[in-house]
Amino acid sequence: MAATRIAYRTCPLCEATCGLEIHLDGDDITLIRGDKDDVFSRGFVCPKGTALKALEADPDRLRRPLVRQGDTWHEVSWDDAFAEVERGLQAVFDAHGRDAVAVYMGNPNAHNLAGMVYNRVLNQGVGTTNVFSASTVDQMPKHVSAGLMFGSPISVPLADIDRTDYLLILGANPFASNGSLMTAPDMPGRLRALRARGGRFVVVDPRRTKTAEEADEHVPIRPGTDAHFLLALVNVLVDEGLVHLGHAEGLVNGYDEVVRLADGFTPDAVAPVTGVPAETTRRIARDLAGTERAAVYGRIGTCTQEFGSLASWLVDVVNVLAGNLDRDGGAMFARPAIGGATAEDTGKGRGFRLGRRTSRVRGLPEALGELPVATLADEIETPGDGQVHALICLSGNPVCSTPDAGRLDRVLAGLDFMVALDIYRNETTRHANVILPAPRVLAKSHYDMALYNLAIRTVANYSPPAVELGPDEIPEWEIMCRLAAIVAGQGSSHEAGVAVDDFVLSTLVSGAVGRKGGVVEGRDAAELVAELSRNGRRGPERVLDLMLRTGPYGDGFGAPGHEDGLSLAVLEANPHGVDLGPLQPRLPGVLRTPSGRIELAPPELVADAEARLVPTLARPVDGLRLIGRRDLRSNNSWMHNLEVLVKGKARCTLLVHPDDAARLGLADGDPARVRSAAGEVQAPVEVTDTMMPGVVSLPHGWGHDADGAAMETAAAHAGVNSNVLTDGSVLDALSGNAILNGIPVEVEALVPATA
Ligand code: SF4
Repeated sequence: MAATRIAYRTCPLCEATCGLEIHLDGDDITLIRGDKDDVFSRGFVCPKGTALKALEADPDRLRRPLVRQGDTWHEVSWDDAFAEVERGLQAVFDAHGRDAVAVYMGNPNAHNLAGMVYNRVLNQGVGTTNVFSASTVDQMPKHVSAGLMFGSPISVPLADIDRTDYLLILGANPFASNGSLMTAPDMPGRLRALRARGGRFVVVDPRRTKTAEEADEHVPIRPGTDAHFLLALVNVLVDEGLVHLGHAEGLVNGYDEVVRLADGFTPDAVAPVTGVPAETTRRIARDLAGTERAAVYGRIGTCTQEFGSLASWLVDVVNVLAGNLDRDGGAMFARPAIGGATAEDTGKGRGFRLGRRTSRVRGLPEALGELPVATLADEIETPGDGQVHALICLSGNPVCSTPDAGRLDRVLAGLDFMVALDIYRNETTRHANVILPAPRVLAKSHYDMALYNLAIRTVANYSPPAVELGPDEIPEWEIMCRLAAIVAGQGSSHEAGVAVDDFVLSTLVSGAVGRKGGVVEGRDAAELVAELSRNGRRGPERVLDLMLRTGPYGDGFGAPGHEDGLSLAVLEANPHGVDLGPLQPRLPGVLRTPSGRIELAPPELVADAEARLVPTLARPVDGLRLIGRRDLRSNNSWMHNLEVLVKGKARCTLLVHPDDAARLGLADGDPARVRSAAGEVQAPVEVTDTMMPGVVSLPHGWGHDADGAAMETAAAHAGVNSNVLTDGSVLDALSGNAILNGIPVEVEALVPATA
C-alpha cells in the first residue's frame, strides 16, 4: 500500500465506537487521533484507542498459529493448525458426542464483524448445548428483563442523553467506560453538555467515581441494593400520584402488580438496607416525574449483582411510570441500519422465553441459548453423559473474567482438547492445544453490528481494512469458516471454509427474498448473491451489504422508492460514517410480546422479587462487601500487555474507606488479604474516602502471573485476579449472571499499620 496516508476507522475496542484517524507510513502506524469528522464521536478518543499503535506492534501478539506439545509451543502453518484442530475435536465428538465440546465467546466478539457473522454458524455446527459467553458475567440480566417486558432481549431502552434534562445513573461510570449498553462516544462531553444546557445528572454508586465527582449529586448506595432503591422510587411515584405513562399509556399490562410489589418498599423501609436516606429517594422520584425529559440508566453494577435481573427490570419500570419511555430525552429504542428482529413495526411477537433447557450438573436455565459461564467448570469436572471434554474458546479469557477463576484454571488443564482463537497466549489460552491468531486489527474490516443496536443515535459506519494481510495471516472470516467446516464434518481446507461462507450468504439471501412484505420479497436469490459477490467479494462484507440493503434505511437492491438508501458502497463512500439522526419513538411497533403490550410485571420477575428480594428487607446489614471498578486504561483482561496503558501507579489496588482502614489496621500501600467464600487474594491497599464505608473495591481483569502465559508486560504488572473471590455457586436467579458486586469479604492486614 502507498506510503504516508490516512485511514479512518471505527475503534473496535469498546462500545463507544469512536472514529479514529490513523496515519500510516506504509503499513506502520505513525499517529492515531480522534477523527474530528466522525459523525458520532466528533474527534473524541480515549487512551485505549491511541494504544492501538502499541497493540499492533506488541511483540507478544501472536502472528502465526501455535500448537502445543507438552509444555512446548511450536509455530505451524495454517493448514497444519487446522488439521490438528480437526483431529482433536473429531476425537472428542467420536468418543463423547456433541455436548462434550463447549464453546466460550469472550467480550471482543461483540466488537468483531467476523465474529458477529460467523459465531452462530460455528455454534450451530458444533451442535452442543454447552454454549457460554462473557454475557453471563456482564449484561445478561438486561437482556432478560428487556425480553420479558418488551418481547425481545435486544429491546434495551437507551437513555437519550443528548436531549434529556435529568439523568439518573446507577452502577455505571461512563467517564471511564464511555457508556455500556448505551453506545455513545464521548460520554464525558455529552454529560457536560447535559449540564451546560441546564440539565442535571445524579449518580447512585457505592464509590465516588469520576462520573460521580462530575455529577450534580452522588448518592452512595450499599452494593446489591439497587432493586430496593428502585422499588422505593416506584413506591413514591405511586404514593404521591406522580405516575403518568406518556407514550406507554394504554400499552401497559401489570401496573397493579407492580404497585402491590412496591407497597412494602417505602423509602423509610429500604433506607436501612440501601443506605440512601428516605428524603433523598423521595426527592429523586419527584425530580424524575417532574422533569419534562428524564431517564434512568443502570449498568454493570445493576447487572452483576444478587438482584441483577430485578434491578435491570425496575430501571425500565421507573422509566415507564415517570412517563419517560419512548420519548425524546427519555429512554428510547433503536432501529439500527442493519435491521434485525425488532426493526419492523409489527408490534407483536412470540415473546421471550427463558430456561428452554437447563445445564446438566446444576440444572441452571439457559438464556439466549447460553448457559451461565459460572457453571462451565462444573460441566468440565463432573463425570457422566454430556461431560465437557473439549473447549472452543473464541477471543476470551474466562480464567481472568469468570467466577471461581482458580477452579476453572485447574479444570481447563484436564481437558482432552482445546482450541483458542486469540491474539495472545494468556491465562486461558495457555491451556489450549492450538491457538489460532486473528489478523492485526488494521488488516480487518469493521462494522459494529451489535453495538449500533444500542446506539443513542442511528449511525452506520464501515471501516475497510487499512492494511493488507501479512504473509502469515489469513482473514478472520476464513478462520471462523474453517472451524465451522471442521465441526460440521466438512474438512479443514480453505475450500471447505469458502463453502461455509457461501452457504451462510445463500441462506441469508434465501431468507430475505422469502420474507413476506420484505423489500426484496420474490427477487431472484442467485441474482442478489451475484451482486453481493461482485469483484470477488466474500466474507462478512457480503452479509453486511445484504443486511444494510434490506434494512430499514437500505436501497432494497434498487427497489422503487429506496434508490437513495444505504448499501455498503454508500458507507465506503462515507469514511466518517452516515448519521441517520436521533432515535425516534417506536411504540407500539417495537413490541414483540404476544399481548402487543408492555409487560410491566412479568410473572418470572415478580416471582423472583417475592422469593428473594422481599425477604431481604428484614436482612441485617453487616460485614464488608466487595465491588469491582473500571479504569479508563483497562479493557477487561486483555490490554494489560501494553506498557502505554499499564505504566505509572499500580491500579490493581484494594480501595478501602479510611474508617474501615483504621478499624482493620490497614495503611496505604500495605498488603492486605481479601477472603471470600470462594477464595482469597492479596492486594495492596489504597485508602480513599471515595469508597462508601463498609465497601471495598478491586478491579477485575488482572492476575497475569500464570506459568505458561506469554505476556511479558502484563506479567510485570500482574495484579491479582479478583474473580478468585467471585463465588460461582450463587447467581442472579433468572439470568444466571455471576455476582461480581456485593461479594461478602473479610479483609485483614498482612503488615500491621504503623501508628
Ligand atoms: S472510548 Fe472506546 S471506542 Fe473510543 S477510543 Fe476509547 S476504547 Fe476506542
